[in-house]
Amino acid sequence: MQTIKLDQDFSISDQITVADIQTLKEAGIKVLISNRPDGEANDQPTNAELAAAARDAGLTYQEVPVVLDTINAANVRDFAKACKAGLKTHAFCRSGARSSNLYGLKKLMQGEPADVVIAGAATAGVNLTTMPAKFASVIKELTESFTSLPLQHNCSILIVGGGAGGIAVAASLLKRRPGLDIAIVEPSDEHHYQPGYTMIGGGIFKSTDVVKPEAQVIPKGVTWIKASVTHFLPESNQVVLDDDTKVSYERLVVCPGLKLNWDAVSGLRESIGKYGVTSNYDPRYAPYTWELVQSLKSGTAIFTQPPMPIKCAGAPQKALYLSADYWLKQACLDSIDIHFCNAGPVLFGVKDYVPALMQYIERYKAKLDFGHNLIKVDGPNQTATFATTDANGQSKQREIKFDMLHVCPPQCAPDFIRNSPLADFGGWVSVDPKTLQHTRYSNIWGLGDGTNTPNAKTAAAVRKQAPTVAMNLLADIDNKNAVASYNGYGACPLTVERGKVVLAEFAYGGKLDPSLPNWILDGRGPTSLAWILKKTLMPSLYYDFMFKGHEPLVTLEKLKQETAINN
Ligand code: FAD
Repeated sequence: MQTIKLDQDFSISDQITVADIQTLKEAGIKVLISNRPDGEANDQPTNAELAAAARDAGLTYQEVPVVLDTINAANVRDFAKACKAGLKTHAFCRSGARSSNLYGLKKLMQGEPADVVIAGAATAGVNLTTMPAKFASVIKELTESFTSLPLQHNCSILIVGGGAGGIAVAASLLKRRPGLDIAIVEPSDEHHYQPGYTMIGGGIFKSTDVVKPEAQVIPKGVTWIKASVTHFLPESNQVVLDDDTKVSYERLVVCPGLKLNWDAVSGLRESIGKYGVTSNYDPRYAPYTWELVQSLKSGTAIFTQPPMPIKCAGAPQKALYLSADYWLKQACLDSIDIHFCNAGPVLFGVKDYVPALMQYIERYKAKLDFGHNLIKVDGPNQTATFATTDANGQSKQREIKFDMLHVCPPQCAPDFIRNSPLADFGGWVSVDPKTLQHTRYSNIWGLGDGTNTPNAKTAAAVRKQAPTVAMNLLADIDNKNAVASYNGYGACPLTVERGKVVLAEFAYGGKLDPSLPNWILDGRGPTSLAWILKKTLMPSLYYDFMFKGHEPLVTLEKLKQETAINN
């Protein structure tokens, strides 16, 4: 089997055998797509044999059999449906040619320009140069399906996503230039203050504390289009909505957040919310965390952290600290065996904060199980399975029985971004890390959790990204170069006990970037002041400042100083 990786989650090969399925499983593949009909050669395993072996290995097996010369639009649509975004997928045929052409045609269908698709494939060593001419009529049929859709709205600035990033950037734009013609596409009726989720899991906030009607947070004068974007058509400055209409724009801001990939852990979706399995990453389950914490008097409590990137990288630990602090105060901590099972190799990515956090790990007698990636949850038997690597680099599996399991789910770019021409190799919106302008489309910007910038994915990051995007987009309207530059700021208030927070604030490269002088607040140690900030002031900073375009700490001068931009 000759495997070629075409993007972070998608690979192709020639014909696979039953024995190859184990190798593909070990490489993290979750979905197999067969593009070869049965009976083409005597030595070819049948699809039924391969499907049975895949099922035994816990993989999904999909058949989209085609003959290269007769690939049609329906085949491409079936192939696109079979590719499960966010799950590592491997497609194969006799030589790999059918799979690579279907992959390329899927990209064209999703609006990616042919030269970009061909160049991307060439980087992986796959030649798709003849594809546009060979499948011209198929491509026409696939792309024309959007041309005929009606245009429901036309605006100057379109924002995709009305979460932290979308509302903050709309407010920032309007504060600078009132009267702008802005529309936000957002499907949800509710806006959530997600930084409050861990406080619900710790019994400090109620569920109702973190929700507001979306209509209440959308700035006055902004048109709310209550729908989901399904496709981007950047060549024609349009997006397609899930009601089969289109919206056109002059400039686009993309801030769709990220996808919590519950399906990447086998059995998790079936178990969550019962059997002691919970997660503060979903507000439906955060109250269950607190129920479990209060009822657990002895046993094993596991807190998991998947591979990066995740939003608020400190949140898995926050759940651990707030739970353990409660158990300590209830005098049952000695009867509870706490594990922090982290797929990564360190407690926290910025070393300056590790000593303070280690003191709490020791206080709570938590075991640090690094290199432990949760792959399976058996709710009824209360067993978690982790993929681990031993000291010799050998992959192994380890099962741990639990009474309480707090899961931070794996996270990835949303499907409609990953499958769009705006995505980078990893599926995220591809932007310049400083100007936040799209790397290929000069009238598009991105911010928040959905972009490929290497900052900590937090609302705190949005606080500096929103004015950066607003200033640069307005400069573009005025035919000027980008003026503002984002330094990668993000913050993570680690609630190490009730009443104390270690406030991590850092920029690109892990460079410390505190908002207040150390003599007022040194974030490298636990402080009561940071707890007051987290519990009381931050929600107000979010709603009353960031969402109203008040940006006292983020002037253009400050953004220039922090990043040494000189124009
Ligand atoms: P979101 O706020 O998630 O908004 C994305 C929006 O896009 C949503 O409203 C969604 O409905 C919309 N959308 C999705 N798909 C589509 C579509 N197809 N079309 C149109 N719209 C769409 N940050 C901190 O700063 N401090 C913290 O302490 C902190 N703690 C956290 C704890 C937890 C448990 C969690 C889950 C997050 C935490 N965060 C924290 C992270 C913070 O909430 C996010 O980084 C922030 O919300 C990102 O903003 P965003 O706009 O990118 O995404």
